[in-house]
Amino acid sequence: MQVVWSAQQLVHHGTRFIRSGQIVSSPETAERATFIRDAVVRRGHELIGPRDLGLAPILAVHDADFVAFLQAARNDWTAFAGAEAAAMPNVHPRGPTARRPSGPVGQLGWYTGDMACEITDGTWPAAYAAAQGAATAAQLVIEGNATVYALCRPPGHHAGGDRAMGFCYLNNAAVAAEELRRHFARVAILDVDVHHGNGTQEIFYERGDVYFASIHGDPDQYYPFYWGYADQCGEGGGKGATLNVPFPVGSGDGPFLEALAAALDGIQAFAPQALVLSLGVDASVHDPHGRHKVSDAGFRRMAEMIARLNLPMAIVQEGGYASAALGETVADILDILG
Ligand SMILES: [Zn+2]
Repeated sequence: MQVVWSAQQLVHHGTRFIRSGQIVSSPETAERATFIRDAVVRRGHELIGPRDLGLAPILAVHDADFVAFLQAARNDWTAFAGAEAAAMPNVHPRGPTARRPSGPVGQLGWYTGDMACEITDGTWPAAYAAAQGAATAAQLVIEGNATVYALCRPPGHHAGGDRAMGFCYLNNAAVAAEELRRHFARVAILDVDVHHGNGTQEIFYERGDVYFASIHGDPDQYYPFYWGYADQCGEGGGKGATLNVPFPVGSGDGPFLEALAAALDGIQAFAPQALVLSLGVDASVHDPHGRHKVSDAGFRRMAEMIARLNLPMAIVQEGGYASAALGETVADILDILG
C-alpha cells in the first residue's frame, strides 16, 4: 500500500498536557509517528511524499480566519508575551455575547477548544504537511488506487471548522473527504478512534453528501464529553447522515466490534462511493493513553469487517499513543486493508 508520509510532521512538539489536574508531558509525541512509519516500512509498504496542494484543500473545510490564526499564532504569541514557552490559552469564551479579540491570548482561547493544542514553532508546518498528506491520499484514490494510507501527525478529528482541539489543528479526515467529494457524489467517513471525532462531526453535521459514522467511548464519561451521543444524528440537509455508536468506557473486543457492525450497517445503507477511515487505534489494550481493551485480534477483525465494504478508501491516521505495539497494530490493519 502507498503510505503518504512527510518528515515535516515531526517538527511539532507539544510540551504539556493536563491529566486529572496534573500537568504531564504531552502524549502526542513525534515518536508515535516514527513507530508507525518504521513498522509499515518493515512490512513492505511504500513511503511516498505528499503533494503540495497549497491552502485550497484546507480552506475547503476550515474558516479562513482560523487558518490565518494558526499560521500567525506562534509569532504573535512570542511578540506579545516574549515567552519561549508554547502558546496555551487560559480563557475559553462561552455564550452568545462573546466576541473575538485581536490580542494573542484572547485569540488562543477563541480558536482552541481545550488546553491540549499548544502552538509551538513546528505546529503549523507539521499540521500543514499532515493535511497535504490526507489530500494527497484522496487524490491517489481518485486516480484509481484502491486504498491509500496517510500517516498523518498531528491527528485531526477533534479540529472543527474554526477550532483546534485535542492535539488536532487541521482536520485531515475532513480534508480527505472533501477532496474525494470532488469526484465521488457520496462519501462516508468511518471514525474508529476511541474518542469521538467531534470536529469531523461538526464540519459535516448539516451535509447530506458526507456520512459520518463514529464508534467511541461513551462521552458521558470520556473525552471529548460534549459530543458523540447516539441521538446526535445531523441537522437540516444532514439529518440522518451522522451516526454515533458509543460503547461503555473500558470496553474490549465485544462492544467495540458490535459498535463497528452498527456503524458499517449505517454506511452501507447510505451507499457511499468512497470511504475515509479515521484510523485511531487508542482503543487498544496496549495504548498508554486510552482506557480500553481491544486486542490485536480485535483490530484485525475490525479491518476484515471494513474490507468487506469493498470501497475505494483513504485511510487517515488519528490517535494511538507511543508504545512498542503501536506500529504493529497499525501495520496489521494495513496488511488486511491493502
Ligand atoms: Zn483518540
